[in-house]
Amino acid sequence: MTKKIFDLGNRIHLIDGFDLGLPYRTGTYVIQDEKITIVETGPSLSVPHILNGLQELNIDPKDISYIIVTHIHLDHSGGAGLLLNDCTNAKVVVHPKGARHLIDPSRLILGAKAVYGDDFEKFFDPILPISEEKIIIKEDLETLALSETCELTFYDTPGHSDHHFSIYDPVSNGIFTGDTIGVNYNQVLEDTGIQLYLPSTSPNQFKPDAMLASLERIHALNVDCVYFGHFNVSRDVEEVYKQIKTWLPLFVEVGKKAEETGKDHHWIAEQLVLAVREDLRGSDIPDTHPVFEFIKLDTSVCAMGIVDYLNKKKR
Ligand SMILES: [Zn+2]
Repeated sequence: MTKKIFDLGNRIHLIDGFDLGLPYRTGTYVIQDEKITIVETGPSLSVPHILNGLQELNIDPKDISYIIVTHIHLDHSGGAGLLLNDCTNAKVVVHPKGARHLIDPSRLILGAKAVYGDDFEKFFDPILPISEEKIIIKEDLETLALSETCELTFYDTPGHSDHHFSIYDPVSNGIFTGDTIGVNYNQVLEDTGIQLYLPSTSPNQFKPDAMLASLERIHALNVDCVYFGHFNVSRDVEEVYKQIKTWLPLFVEVGKKAEETGKDHHWIAEQLVLAVREDLRGSDIPDTHPVFEFIKLDTSVCAMGIVDYLNKKKR
């Protein structure tokens, strides 16, 4: 049986949100400080999983003070409006560029329909608007006190999207990075002991230079752990930075090759899967390992973001 709640120490738990119906993709972090705080909600379909998890942790949803979303892509914040129906005393903390889309999600919905097509309703409905007085905006380097001894700090970290911040937690000396420095596949690779981190280059604000600058900024904080949007914590932070810095230029390079030879995003996705497969082959991971299902899903979206970036660069 797959594990649904992970005790990460330092008063932090992770609840699996079963994004797209799959385990180990998107999770909600619960910080049990004086002011109980949630980081990421996942889409609305994750909300029942979050409520179950809270019950298991003996937390009344009404006791939650803050729901922080790293950015407003639906797999991170789509469920925030629905979750507020239970977390009636919580405020939603968001990047300055994301706030208006939580208040009026119509553009978010359009954007997600463009990426997910017919799957939109199956995976993301409903997306409820959040009233303005429930929203707290955090600019770069602003803080949020969870107790007298703990202040979270917000860092503007664009690259994956313009409306993305990362949240530093002094108690664990860790940072919640959403999708800024990629996706962590270690949980699904648990049986192999292999570490794999890939950049998340989804549409439509992917900017490789900004992503790299955000990575360097996070690196300079000397954290002990990185809490990923997808999925779970890594305590081997140097390995995270190293792998993302290796894969990111390669992802863009494959996109440029596609541009030069008139290939589309499907081709890019195929090439990226091949490149990862090749990289993992030395580790004796069979081609049938479930990690490849995850990588196929993710690279198909990453490829669209790379094309979008290169098209914008041409203009
Ligand atoms: Zn994401």
